[in-house]
Amino acid sequence: MTKALFGQMMDSPLLISNILSSAARHHAQLEIVSRRAEGDIHRYTVVDLQVRAKKLAQALERLHLDAGSRIGTLAWNGYRHLEIYYGVSGSGLVCHTINPRLFSEQIAYIIQHAEDEIIFFDQSFQSLVEGLIPLCPHVKKWICLIDPALMQSSELALDNYESFIEQESGDFEWPIFDERLASSLCYTSGTTGNPKGALYSHRSTVLHSYASSLPDSLSLSARDVILPVVPMFHVNAWGLPYSSLLVGAKLVLPGAKLDGPSIYELLESEKVTFSAGVPTIWAGLIQSMKLKNLNFSTFKRVVIGGSACPPAMMKTFQEYGVEVIHAWGMTELSPIGTVAKLKASDLSKSIHEQELIQQKQGRVIFGVDMRIVDGDLNALAQDGKAFGDLQVKGPWVIQQYFKASESALIDGWFPTGDVSNIDPDGHMQITDRSKDVIKSGGEWISSIDLENVAAGHPSVMMAACISVAHPKWDERPLLVIEKKPDVQLSNDELKADILQFFIDKVAKWWIPDDVVFVDKIPLTATGKMQKLKLREQFKNHPLPCL
Ligand code: AMP
Repeated sequence: MTKALFGQMMDSPLLISNILSSAARHHAQLEIVSRRAEGDIHRYTVVDLQVRAKKLAQALERLHLDAGSRIGTLAWNGYRHLEIYYGVSGSGLVCHTINPRLFSEQIAYIIQHAEDEIIFFDQSFQSLVEGLIPLCPHVKKWICLIDPALMQSSELALDNYESFIEQESGDFEWPIFDERLASSLCYTSGTTGNPKGALYSHRSTVLHSYASSLPDSLSLSARDVILPVVPMFHVNAWGLPYSSLLVGAKLVLPGAKLDGPSIYELLESEKVTFSAGVPTIWAGLIQSMKLKNLNFSTFKRVVIGGSACPPAMMKTFQEYGVEVIHAWGMTELSPIGTVAKLKASDLSKSIHEQELIQQKQGRVIFGVDMRIVDGDLNALAQDGKAFGDLQVKGPWVIQQYFKASESALIDGWFPTGDVSNIDPDGHMQITDRSKDVIKSGGEWISSIDLENVAAGHPSVMMAACISVAHPKWDERPLLVIEKKPDVQLSNDELKADILQFFIDKVAKWWIPDDVVFVDKIPLTATGKMQKLKLREQFKNHPLPCL
């Protein structure tokens, strides 16, 4: 056996603090714009961001926390939250972003499970925090992210962020440590059972930032102005707080105002070119623009993911001159796994065929590998037809949940819980969440396909398709519809019209057995349709017994 010959390149660890210090050094004019709870628009440069992140690191150092201690946040997208992202991870602590839209019992569970030492919170969550304090006595400090003059009085001991960092000089060197150390923590918002933590490392975060910026990924560059609508408490805003600084793009943080008119105003006033969010957010933006006959002047690309992007939404964005980039991922994947981008060989296909490819969830970005398997873990053909359980692996894919005693992997692969097919060109298409698939007479019906068709009907605001028990077929699809506000047809007329709308768009036996109308489709804390709740609500819905 000969001696191994190592390369002779520098062994610099991939650390999150490098992203910030590199941006401050090479893109010093880079602007970070935030809509603040104080009511104004705040602007500063990445150099200011670094000074304040370092002040925060110094203030935290005074508390003598152990390396790897968890520091929680309950906050919207804003510059102080960004300072926490960099200041906490950069100093060897773990930035634990908590989703404030969860039930307070779940939040308390998450804070206890993570053993957060300090929680930073936006003032809009003060009453939530006051309820959490007695449940989480181990938390040493609760620090409010607001100008000190605007602090609301409280009977409980709350600290102020500006006061916490004001004495510090900002003269601080980011420590160098092993890139595999933990940097941040995010809990999955599972609809059943307790939330589970995905613990990211510096290495996984930096690699994900590189990979997600590639041309066939989100294609980010120093010419972009990036507005993450996806919250910084949902899988690190899909990595954009890191990747935007990595490429040197201006960052616009929308705060708590995520309604259509407020987002539109920022897109226009800050000359945004790129944004990202779940489909439900965009439905609100498009509706408010249609009402006022508005157009975009700079907005060019939008990443839609988190749940399937309805083709009708893609078309509408295209009509506004905005390219929809459909992406798939999950908390356990940091989150991006696949992105729907055309290959050179796709360019000779018809526009319709190209649209069908862009509606899929896409191709893996290098670093992630994927396969589909049957119930016995046999790998299935990548022929675009066979569908099975989607498994992934790669350096930004979780191998174990935080504090879990066992690996999360099966055979070295992470089981995503999604059901999909993969075509010979590597374009992957999710047909369902495994628990949402409708099993009719031994065959599977894709609830996502049916929802996509229904969402294209002019009177439909949102559509959820769920399985209902059926005496002959085991399960059959029931369509739950939230109507657009101005629909004139009666429910019976609309139901007949929607069912008619399915003819020639899906196989006859896939057409839902019935349609029901609800005022609002319930959404999860991350803006996804709560199908579990709908299944419970309609479990006894009578279906025609054909
Ligand atoms: P989360 O961890 O909350 O981000 O949820 C991840 C899950 O969201 C995935 O396992 C999918 O079921 C779903 N998901 C994410 N992106 C998409 C997409 N583009 N199309 C369909 N489902 C998606």
